[in-house]
Amino acid sequence: MELVHLGKRVILAGLDTTFANEPFGPVPNLMALADEVTKLSAVCMVCGAPAIHTQRLGQSQELVVVGAAGLYEARCRTHFEPFTDEHHSEQLDLLTA
Ligand SMILES: [Zn+2]
Repeated sequence: MELVHLGKRVILAGLDTTFANEPFGPVPNLMALADEVTKLSAVCMVCGAPAIHTQRLGQSQELVVVGAAGLYEARCRTHFEPFTDEHHSEQLDLLTA
């Protein structure tokens, strides 16, 4: 806010939700303080519809996993499968069956 009070224009970009579809760090609070918010969408990697979710393709439960392509995909609401312990357990069951 110091920069804003000095007359500076501050522009931020980032994801607003995590791979688990939960608020991501300070981004939601910053959005609340902003004069203007533009939410962009990607293209769902399954069906081509506008995608607002980040689908993690790996099994890591870390909040941030940085890596190459293949760790995340843009997904629409229909094709997004949020990570849950239950979902993880089902996947483990499939692997061990
Ligand atoms: Zn889709």
